Amino acid sequence: MSDDSKTIQRRSFLKQSAAAAGAVAVAGTAGISQARRSKTIRWKMVTTWPKNFPGLGTGANTLAKLIGEMSGGRIEVKVYGAKELVGAFEVFDAVSRGTAQMGHGAAYYWKGKHPATQFFAAVPFGLTAQEMNGWLYHGGGMELWQKLYDRFGLIPSAIGNTGVQMGGWFNKEIKSVEDLKGLKMRIPGLGGEVLKRAGGTPVSLPGGEIFQALQSGSIDATEWVGPYNDLAFGIYKAAKFYYYPGWHEPGTTLECIINQEAFNALPKELQIIVTNACKVANQDMLSDFTARNNAALQTLVSTHGVTMRTFPDGVLKRLKQLSDDVVAEIAANDPISQEIYSSYKKFRDQAVSWHAVSEQAYLNARAL
Ligand code: CA
Repeated sequence: MSDDSKTIQRRSFLKQSAAAAGAVAVAGTAGISQARRSKTIRWKMVTTWPKNFPGLGTGANTLAKLIGEMSGGRIEVKVYGAKELVGAFEVFDAVSRGTAQMGHGAAYYWKGKHPATQFFAAVPFGLTAQEMNGWLYHGGGMELWQKLYDRFGLIPSAIGNTGVQMGGWFNKEIKSVEDLKGLKMRIPGLGGEVLKRAGGTPVSLPGGEIFQALQSGSIDATEWVGPYNDLAFGIYKAAKFYYYPGWHEPGTTLECIINQEAFNALPKELQIIVTNACKVANQDMLSDFTARNNAALQTLVSTHGVTMRTFPDGVLKRLKQLSDDVVAEIAANDPISQEIYSSYKKFRDQAVSWHAVSEQAYLNARAL
């Protein structure tokens, strides 16, 4: 079967399943006149996070609440934690086929669907949160993201950002690239591929399974997000050293995916509300992480006695070389990967030039 006929078949399936999902429910009951009877659109949002998980799960709740409030109650979104309706890594398929109308996760979890999804979550040594938002909203990134997800019947949105993450938790010190050899580490996306090139073994695990895997020794090391989220999982109880910087995730964008058929069925004004609720939630999560990471880092160090370490420059330089290779190879996969890579790289080059004389120069000056 050709790719085109697969796509057509899939579209047809999506139409049927979105209709079957019956996103529109009549809210009015006996006692309410026909004229006043209003239709409430009920959507399900499946997520890759434990229910109400700080920052990420609560970010999904914020989005649902915003859509409800901004639409004056015309849309109600019910949020499901991982495994409540579908498993964490089943979110993409569940929304694509219309089992749920929305999903909340991170695009690099779907690299098996298409490797270029990873450009829309995090690229090692790539864009920061501020730069990602610049690329997505005003640098052509969002249009490319939509183009990539169109084949899956999905509409993507940026829905939060963690800011620069931490490098991860280790039970041995990383003094040279040799120390990464044979290391079994939970690290998703392109960062995982880079670790593999450095001789390690990357493992992809949902957040909720990390602590137990590290404590039981089924993985040697892990990254998760940063102080705020890592403290919430208690990862410090299972590892000695907390490394920085998070070279592999310099500003990870979280995503909301919406089933195209469900979105297209909305009146225009509700489509605008959903789109803009996503923008508000996107900024809100970054602000949440910025505020809470500061406090959580102090708790980890002062209360829990966590030992902080930086990756040596030699290790970071080698990881950067390997990252450049990995990213360029993904670009060579197919035309859309090349198109996304070219756009991303052009924006990154410009951001490096501008931020050398703005953000970076200022942060250096502040540290004098
Ligand atoms: Ca991470």
